Amino acid sequence: MIKDIHKRKFIFNLLTGITYISLSKLLFLKKVNAKNKPNVVILGSGIGGASCLKYLNKISDLINLIVIDKNKKIRTGPFSNLVIGDIMEEADITFFLNKKKYNNVKFIFDEAKYIDSNKKFIEFSDGNKINFDYLIISPGIGYKENIIDGYRINDKVSVPHCWDGDGDLNYFKKRLGVLENNSLIIISSPDYPYRCPPAPYERASLISNYFKKKKINVKVLILDSKDSFTKQQNFFKEWSFYYKNTIEWVSRKNGGKVVFFDRKSNLVKNDQGESFKADFINIIPDQKAAPIIFNSNLVSNNDDWCQINPITFQLINFKDIYVVGDSINAWDMPKSAFSANSQAKVLSLNLINRILEKDYIDPVFLNTCYSFSKDDRAFSISAWYRLNSSEDRIVSLGSSESQVRLNSTETIKEAKHAYGWYKTLVNDIFL
Ligand SMILES: Cc1cc2nc3c(=O)[nH]c(=O)nc-3n(C[C@H](O)[C@H](O)[C@H](O)COP(=O)(O)OP(=O)(O)OC[C@H]3O[C@@H](n4cnc5c(N)ncnc54)[C@H](O)[C@@H]3O)c2cc1C
Repeated sequence: MIKDIHKRKFIFNLLTGITYISLSKLLFLKKVNAKNKPNVVILGSGIGGASCLKYLNKISDLINLIVIDKNKKIRTGPFSNLVIGDIMEEADITFFLNKKKYNNVKFIFDEAKYIDSNKKFIEFSDGNKINFDYLIISPGIGYKENIIDGYRINDKVSVPHCWDGDGDLNYFKKRLGVLENNSLIIISSPDYPYRCPPAPYERASLISNYFKKKKINVKVLILDSKDSFTKQQNFFKEWSFYYKNTIEWVSRKNGGKVVFFDRKSNLVKNDQGESFKADFINIIPDQKAAPIIFNSNLVSNNDDWCQINPITFQLINFKDIYVVGDSINAWDMPKSAFSANSQAKVLSLNLINRILEKDYIDPVFLNTCYSFSKDDRAFSISAWYRLNSSEDRIVSLGSSESQVRLNSTETIKEAKHAYGWYKTLVNDIFL
């Protein structure tokens, strides 16, 4: 019951907060600050950045809103496994920000190389600079290079990891498409924390589904750096029914941790010294915050993720720099598009509150994560979150996972919900 009240109050805050501000305070501020508009820069217009843009655009006559992304096209992580599994096209998950909605916004399509947190500017490789009063960074993730000996993140010959919008999905599919009967596919799944925890297992399912439809026998061996994973029982149930003898999962303690890769002989070795030779090896690398964060010294020594204030999303020790999405340590919240969108709403609302000199709202967050096992079967886990009593971390208030079931229409309904969720999200922030 208490959880329900929190949830409802949060949704009410989100739905009403910004509208309320725009009606009452904005006219007042317009007169006061017309000549001193602050520069609000959003770096990264993926899920977190585009969500902030949508909300901050509501006060775009009071601020200079600038959006920077190295890509003009945004290809989403969600549903990218459906593209790999030949259920959707790459074009279905690729979006351009609708500039008609953002008349007052300046867009810069270039890669930011460095953020000077003292002098408050962003620098590009040609030496151009953009000053900011407030900077929101939502740059996604970066990768750890030193976990698997022999593996190079940017090696163009190996199967690409395809764990961000830059990975070549067509090359990935081309490499899959030439596999013949009795091929072995290896997916190496990373250690926590990483973007979208169930996605390696969804990928294994949809690759198996693709070959099953083509009537080609392949085996998918998941070598895991973990001893358990999210929605495990749901995946196991689906695999035992639809992909019997096709998908095999090896936990870390049973030899799943990959430590060596040899591209030339298509071979990996685990930490117990065993070798596995395969026809297709997809290494999903261990992850950390995006490179721009480290290049600009925005994390403390030895930290992999940005530490933030969970009420405002201000980077600790940098009051005018905000970070959202996968590059932050969000404590109990997983790194997902749903989480990034939920965090971005709170960040934007409280940044507007800061600019308008209003009180901050007390945040509550939501996340639902769907996973597909086939074109028309999906299951989910939902959770909601608030701050702990000392208001310095985000903690889970509880979660609810789809029941493990096979002969039920629920799993088919959940697939429909998943398509509906995705359509709503991308319509909301990109179209
Ligand atoms: C296979 C897979 C499946 C997934 N499925 C789901 C799902 O079903 N549900 C779900 O909720 N989440 C899912 N996710 C997770 C989701 O994609 C991420 O959590 C989400 O995109 C995080 O948003 P973000 O804003 O942090 O990063 P992104 O959306 O990656 O955006 C980062 C942006 O920053 C830009 N950028 C980075 N550095 C720079 C720079 N230096 N200069 C200029 N621009 C820069 C990039 O070009 C990019 O546009 C999935 C992810 C993967 C990989």
